[in-house]
Amino acid sequence: MMNTKDENYKALNFIEAIIEDDLQEEKNEKRVHTRFPPEPNGYLHIGHAKSICLNFGLAKKYNGMCNLRFDDTNPTKEEEEFVDSIVEDVKWLGFDWEGRLFYASDYFDQLYKWAEKLIINGKAFVDDQSAEVIGDQRGTVTTPGTESPFYNRSVEENLNLFRRMKAGEFPDGSKVLRAKIDTTSPNMLLRDPVLYRILHASHHNTGDKWCIYPMYDFAHGQSDYIEGITHSICTLEFEVHRPLYDWFLDNLIETKYRPQQIEFARLNLSYTIMSKRKLMELVEGGFVNGWDDPRLPTISGLRRRGYTPESIRYFADKIGVARRDNMIDVALLEHSVKDDLNKKTLRVMAVLNPLRVVITNYPEGKVEEMELVNNPEDETMGSRKVPFTREIFIEKDDFMEDPPKKFFRLAPGAEVRLKGAYFIKCEEVVKDETTGEVIEVKCTYDPETKSGGPQSNRKVKGTLHWVSAQHGLKAEVRLYDRLFLDEDPLGHPDKDFQEFINPGSLKTVTGLIEPSLRNVKPFEKFQFIRLGYFCVDPDSKEDKLVFNRTVPLRDSWAKISGKGR
Ligand code: ATP
Ligand code: MG
Repeated sequence: MMNTKDENYKALNFIEAIIEDDLQEEKNEKRVHTRFPPEPNGYLHIGHAKSICLNFGLAKKYNGMCNLRFDDTNPTKEEEEFVDSIVEDVKWLGFDWEGRLFYASDYFDQLYKWAEKLIINGKAFVDDQSAEVIGDQRGTVTTPGTESPFYNRSVEENLNLFRRMKAGEFPDGSKVLRAKIDTTSPNMLLRDPVLYRILHASHHNTGDKWCIYPMYDFAHGQSDYIEGITHSICTLEFEVHRPLYDWFLDNLIETKYRPQQIEFARLNLSYTIMSKRKLMELVEGGFVNGWDDPRLPTISGLRRRGYTPESIRYFADKIGVARRDNMIDVALLEHSVKDDLNKKTLRVMAVLNPLRVVITNYPEGKVEEMELVNNPEDETMGSRKVPFTREIFIEKDDFMEDPPKKFFRLAPGAEVRLKGAYFIKCEEVVKDETTGEVIEVKCTYDPETKSGGPQSNRKVKGTLHWVSAQHGLKAEVRLYDRLFLDEDPLGHPDKDFQEFINPGSLKTVTGLIEPSLRNVKPFEKFQFIRLGYFCVDPDSKEDKLVFNRTVPLRDSWAKISGKGR
């Protein structure tokens, strides 16, 4: 399933193999020029990230170039907000289009000229029939299509009608321009496809200049040609469009230079949906809190969740490029960010489900600054001071009144180490009189066991994280679980994917954080010792810290958050 290879030796993927052959044959003057062509009708997701990494990555590897091009041929679905978010996301992922940001709509004049050229050469005609009738005449996969009654209009009449379409003389849907390719072709897309339709709609880039708009197929290959693209990489569903891509170039251009379309398998991730249309349903239906909700696989959601560009690029590289559809385990994505954050983040202490501990033989009012290492994997990250006091909080989960045999944490009579501080021993348990719930634990500490002190290497069963009750900062902590309970939410034809939404995908708790985090800024990332990786949310303010859990340390973490999965 996964295309993992030896770290040091990586065979060429099939696209690289094609490129290397092309270079060998000196095709297109040995240029390599790719593009990433999003339609600005939603926010980018992790699938797009794969395509971005692939296109920009190939350009880099072969000393070529990669353009960013908005495929904005459909005026009714596209919005400026999406353009802006896409620009930001590609930049954030770490790629640079070096000023080559284009719009397919920049080419509307040239595309229009090419359409006239086809008409003049007897390769296109104006059809007065409705979309429905045209659809019916196309036939089916097993029956051939039939010719339109308007098929044999003269060149003059076609040209005249097409110009009048452009001039706005006809209402939406009353006429289309179609290519004359092959009414009976086994490839349905070649059965005289529509090239232009009438749409009296404003366009985000061209305003009200046009009331006819080219179809995707008529725009894409020619846009590649105009930009000098050599390798036009897209996902497998475009394989059947390739003969059309080539037909337009065959009939419109005379140069030796030719862009070539190459298809690869799109990224599918378990427990995840990736269609912009479906993501929009989740956003507009209020199932999530906006396009950057940390539960979504959008780039902006992943960024808010605490993913780094490096982890996403690493993931894209690891999964490789396949020719056939497959499903990647979302755990690999989670692993990628864990791996990256492990190297980069400070270890700090936070308690998410607090239980008060009073150390009865520790002087009241005393504060000791304990020195804790910031990242045991990286000495250069130094250390910091954490205040220790008589009253502290530990994780409720780290105490059990009647522990099973292998419980190595705090229990009546048991001794544990407090990370970077002292050993404590549980002497007494205080319970809520009505509920019987343990609300406080009274302990004693051994002064000889101070971290670095004479007894600090004494054998002890467990080490707990803690936060001073007096110094701890309150923080809202958002704990995320998978948004879907089913591995393949779109894989059930009889069910709506919304039925699989996990009602427990977001749990919010109020935790206590060590005071060194007082001045954190949005998007700063930390490891909360023993709990996982956390990222400061943009909602966070100095008087109300907000953290998102990026990933737990262990996958069976759910206990602390309550019920969990
Ligand atoms: P969606 O169906 O999610 O809206 P799309 O293919 O319609 O995706 P586009 O904006 O047209 O979105 O895609 C821009 C580029 O990203 C295209 O080249 C497309 O092939 C690629 N792409 C989209 N989804 C994926 C995916 N899951 N894996 C890899 N590449 C993808
Ligand atoms: Mg699309």
